[in-house]
Amino acid sequence: MCHPLVVASRTPLPIFQYTRGEADASAGQIYVSHFEATESPDSRVIFPLRFLYAVSTGHTGDACGFSGEYADAASARGELADFLERSLEFSSDLQMYVAPEQYGDSGVAPLKMDYVAPGDIRTWMTVFVEGDFYQIVRDD
Ligand SMILES: [Zn+2]
Repeated sequence: MCHPLVVASRTPLPIFQYTRGEADASAGQIYVSHFEATESPDSRVIFPLRFLYAVSTGHTGDACGFSGEYADAASARGELADFLERSLEFSSDLQMYVAPEQYGDSGVAPLKMDYVAPGDIRTWMTVFVEGDFYQIVRDD
C-alpha cells in the first residue's frame, strides 16, 4: 500500500458507482470508499468536519496507480477527474490530499497547498506527490 488519496467534502458525495467489490477490479477503474475522521488522528486534525473518502485504482488496488505515464494510470486519472467534476455539483467545497504513506496517526501536515481543476488532473502525467493538498475548483 502506497500513499492514500483522500477526498474530503462538506456534504456526502455520489460514490455508489465507485463502490464495487475488488473482485470486479479492472484496468482504468477507480474505487471510492467512505471512512470516518474518527478513524485517524490525522483526519481529525486536517478534516474535522468533512465527509472523507479514500480513492484507489482498480489496477493496483491502491492510490499509487494514479501515478505514471502509462495507459491504466492515465485512464484512472480520467475517472478521478470525472468523479471530482461530478462531486463539484454536490459540494462546491472539495479537497484532495495525497496523504503520506503512514496516514492515520503520522502527525504530518500537508506540505503544499494549491488549487486544481478536473481538467488539470486529466492532463497530469506523473504528478501525485505525497503531501500535496488541493482545493478542487471547476474548470474555467
Ligand atoms: Zn501502491
